Amino acid sequence: MMQQFLRIKAKHPRDLLFYRMGDFYELFYEDAKKAAELLDITLTARGKSAGEPIPMCGVPYHAAEGYLARLVKAGVSVAIAEQIGDPATSKGPVDRQVVRVVTPGTLSDEALLEDRRDNLLLAVCQQHQNYGLAYLDLSTGRFRVLEVSGEEALVSELQRLEPAETLYHESIFLPAIVGRNGARSQPAWEFDIDSAQRALNTQFQTHDLKGFGCEELRLAIGAAGCLLQYVKDTQRGNLPHIRGISHENRAQSVIMDAATRRNLEIDVNLGGGDRNTLYSVMDRGVTAMGSRLLRRWLHRPLTDIDVLEARHEAIGALCDNYAHETVRAALKPIGDMERILTRVALRSARPRDLTRLHASLEALPSLRAALGQAECPRLAQLSQLVGSYPQLCELLGRALIDNPPVLIRDGGVIADGYDAELDELRTLSSNAGEYLLGIERREREATGISTLKVGYNRVHGYYIEISRAQSERAPVEYVRRQTLKNAERFITPELKTFEDKALSSKSRALSREKALYDDLLERLNEQLGPLQDTAGAVSEIDVLANLAERADNLRLCRPRFCTEQVFEVSEGRHLVVEQVLDEPFIANNTLLNERRRMLLITGPNMGGKSTYMRQNAVIALLAHIGSYVPATTARLAPIDRIFTRIGSSDDLASGRSTFMVEMTETANILHNATPRSLVLMDEVGRGTSTFDGLSLAWAAAVELAQSVQAFTLFATHYFELTSLPQLCPTMANVHLDATEHQDHVVFLHNIQEGPANRSFGLQVAKLAGIPAPVLDAARDKLRELELGKSNTPAPLPEAHSPSQVDLFSAAAPHPVVSALEALDLDDLTPREALAKLYELKSTLR
Ligand code: ADP
Repeated sequence: MMQQFLRIKAKHPRDLLFYRMGDFYELFYEDAKKAAELLDITLTARGKSAGEPIPMCGVPYHAAEGYLARLVKAGVSVAIAEQIGDPATSKGPVDRQVVRVVTPGTLSDEALLEDRRDNLLLAVCQQHQNYGLAYLDLSTGRFRVLEVSGEEALVSELQRLEPAETLYHESIFLPAIVGRNGARSQPAWEFDIDSAQRALNTQFQTHDLKGFGCEELRLAIGAAGCLLQYVKDTQRGNLPHIRGISHENRAQSVIMDAATRRNLEIDVNLGGGDRNTLYSVMDRGVTAMGSRLLRRWLHRPLTDIDVLEARHEAIGALCDNYAHETVRAALKPIGDMERILTRVALRSARPRDLTRLHASLEALPSLRAALGQAECPRLAQLSQLVGSYPQLCELLGRALIDNPPVLIRDGGVIADGYDAELDELRTLSSNAGEYLLGIERREREATGISTLKVGYNRVHGYYIEISRAQSERAPVEYVRRQTLKNAERFITPELKTFEDKALSSKSRALSREKALYDDLLERLNEQLGPLQDTAGAVSEIDVLANLAERADNLRLCRPRFCTEQVFEVSEGRHLVVEQVLDEPFIANNTLLNERRRMLLITGPNMGGKSTYMRQNAVIALLAHIGSYVPATTARLAPIDRIFTRIGSSDDLASGRSTFMVEMTETANILHNATPRSLVLMDEVGRGTSTFDGLSLAWAAAVELAQSVQAFTLFATHYFELTSLPQLCPTMANVHLDATEHQDHVVFLHNIQEGPANRSFGLQVAKLAGIPAPVLDAARDKLRELELGKSNTPAPLPEAHSPSQVDLFSAAAPHPVVSALEALDLDDLTPREALAKLYELKSTLR
């Protein structure tokens, strides 16, 4: 047996091997140690190998799903070896084979999947600075390819897709890939482009890949080939639900880098959790498919204005007379059609998948009727795509009982009246008792033997028993079978025929039922394509109705795209902050246009600067997924990229300090932002000494406003920067207001034109619980600075606490400010300005 185990294991060196033995899956050697640790089960030993006990652990086969779920979650793959021979007839160990390999990225079982989250398998290869990516959601058949240039773009895509498993070309050494949970290197030949094209064409039954618009993406096609082969190997069967591949063109989406996805807390908050995120506020999907689609939309805002406006219009139509309520009610009975159809295609659908599919198909006419009320081209189109399936519906309704058992294994799934043969077999096995009583009655009357009765035992089967005293009177056709002390037992030809039928009818009913079930799956597969399109349309209807419901309940407005270069929001709000606040949220306006490209935002800590900046980015993001936005009006030019440089977290994993992270992100923005980008810069420069930081913030602001010309919200605690609008007319000062009341700072959270005039640093420090003696000392120092007693600034700290920062910025006029004002930067290029600033820095030192 161990030899057989080792032979199978040799073919699956990277997977845990679940080796079926009776009612258990057993694991041996290193697999056992690893599984025992991950699953917290007992590690035992069995037999010896080279004198050492063989480590072993096991899980009961009927509970295997729960254990599998935990293993794949930990990024581990499992090969499942089943007994395929008959233990009664086989010599030596019964034959075993790996029937499937369960890996984190190739799941389709309902129990192993999170219902409102995509589960993706990704393959990546690299050529110089270019990366080819292919990803597949096996549970729905969505297959996409894309190519990106540069590590930054790659990391951003990884963050968007969050693949459960990543296959990478063996020559890639990037920590962002190699260090991922569930990452596997694959040999170079797996990425061969010619074989990939052949394999893809065979899969899609096409001559070439031109029709999918991805013929040119040679790198990505290589990755797609590697991915397809891997999935085939793990599934050990056909994949008819993967019907095509499409190109995800980056240029068609609003590009967000990894830091931006994090900072905007799209579906993961800064603490790493999933509460209080944009997704958690926006997702009210009725179906799991709808929730998954919304998540994808939020991560991939689009640039195609026609698509976005069609969505805006659909939301408008669904808001009319609360049409969304009717539509959402009509969506309720619809199950996770996408994933059910995949299991139908993989022939692993369970009885309850089919009853849910039936309920879903039955609900389609009322969904179409609900949509009929809303007049809008996109909704009409979707309603058309939903289609209707009266015949399939009738078939499923007739074939299945209402609440079938979980598995087809023990039968009882197919309804009575669906198949005459099955009905007869079932009648035979269940009516046996009645039939025998009938025989008993009849024979008793015919023979006049009062003690005659019909019975059954395991050894002799059915018999007629007559007491010894009366046994002489048994008719001639009775054949003696068994003699007991007080009775004789007989068999008749009729009873023998019945016996054959009754005993086999149960197992025949079961296999008939399985055949009928397979036939049902076959019939569904014939319509797989249209059914998948229906599922897609239902998902989109769900998202649109979801967005309409949110628009109504969160008081959102329709954003208007325009050709003019503006970003104009009145009474904008931050959706998430608004939800968690006990007091009312203060709405704020934003105005950016050709003459006013950058807002320098000042104000006390806790004043609401970050909230204000983020709310504008979220408004831009929502407008570009086709949603309504939290404001009373919003007018904006289409945006190509959103950048954020917010917060300062050490990226310890890659060994970069706070300042290094900050500068890398800033460099990325300066290189890649365009006049159509939206840029958020929060407290740039705080990670280094004050003079360095101030100079860098200054120069970055000037570059952004003058050369890059992106729409920029630039929050800063360097009060000195508020003089910049005098140099660059496209910059404007705004500030968040606060006031003092009985030595307490009161934040008003409303945005005002002009720079802040105070920083309230000491008051905020007090709120934060800085001890009184420290505050007193700070107050003294502040007074000293303000009186100008100290000509040289106090030694400046490398890292700032709130009190220190504001202590400094409150001091006016600071020697640096005077020196800066003396500089004439007007006619200089940013590079020259930067050089001058450095010169100034060394003088001041
Ligand atoms: P800053 O970036 O200026 O330090 P934040 O944006 O982090 O300030 O805001 C601090 C807190 O102030 C938020 O957590 C929120 O509770 C509150 N806040 C911010 N903006 C508003 C607003 N517009 N209306 C009401 N409360 C707000």
